[in-house]
Amino acid sequence: MKKTALYYSNIFLEHIVPNGHPENNNRIKFIIKNIIKSNFKNLKFKNAKPANHNILKLGHTERYINWLSQLKPAKEIIKIDQDTFMSPKTLESAKIGVGCLVDAIDNVLEKKYRNAFCLLRPPGHHAEREKAMGFCFFSTIGIGAKYLKKIKQLYKIAIVDFDVHHGNGTQDVLWNDPDCLFISIHQDKIFPFTGSKNETGIKNNILNIPVNAGSNSTEFRSIVDNIIIPRLIKFEPEFLLISAGFDGHQDDQISQTQWAESDFIYITKKLKSFANQFCGDRIVSCLEGGYHLEKLSTCCVSHIKTLME
Ligand SMILES: [Zn+2]
Repeated sequence: MKKTALYYSNIFLEHIVPNGHPENNNRIKFIIKNIIKSNFKNLKFKNAKPANHNILKLGHTERYINWLSQLKPAKEIIKIDQDTFMSPKTLESAKIGVGCLVDAIDNVLEKKYRNAFCLLRPPGHHAEREKAMGFCFFSTIGIGAKYLKKIKQLYKIAIVDFDVHHGNGTQDVLWNDPDCLFISIHQDKIFPFTGSKNETGIKNNILNIPVNAGSNSTEFRSIVDNIIIPRLIKFEPEFLLISAGFDGHQDDQISQTQWAESDFIYITKKLKSFANQFCGDRIVSCLEGGYHLEKLSTCCVSHIKTLME
């Protein structure tokens, strides 16, 4: 059986944020430690080059990319918005993250690997076409979807985002593209305060599923079975991208949903089975949020393990 590719670069540890910031490099350190301990036989570690300007332009304006480049600090950490910070290696780290996703897509399309997970930071799903926000700089998954369509000439791409926050950036990048279906399940009325049911994209290509605080496993699984999977089947994508955030876990202080590790395994299994039956088994998943270090690492490793099975 073909292996799952795990994309990772040590530079992801060098995106430095102020003390006490939840999106810090301990997140990746905990996950890596857990992966090494698990000693998976079907996992291949991979690295990639930074995405070039033309790739970044698939999701962002020239003006925005140039603006970010000019901000790059020599030594200090600078504040981009309320909770988004840039250190000297931040942009390089974000660009390598996008590079990893693009390389993962190439390798899965060429069937060198069965599927892939990109263990990266900073995350991407809050970055809009012209705006860094919510710890994010580049719309990694949005760029991935555009890359599949414009460079790889696929017709239809689906993205499922189960991070507890609405993927406003991915939505912004894909809003006008009827060939990209973006599905986001998230807690209502928390950051970034978007993602209502009536935000549906240019041609019904955005499906937002806001849930209330306290949303439990039963609700989560019912949404997977009765809303997400049927919509994917109807859309008939050729490739599935996943924005995998684990901050909806019941122990994660950043949200009030009561989801469990077994729910993340559940959605991963269902998405895998969908991809296996309907889109040539082609899945690439990217890390987004998750701030309870222990639970993030066990949930993320379970997600990777489920991709490998
Ligand atoms: Zn999140």
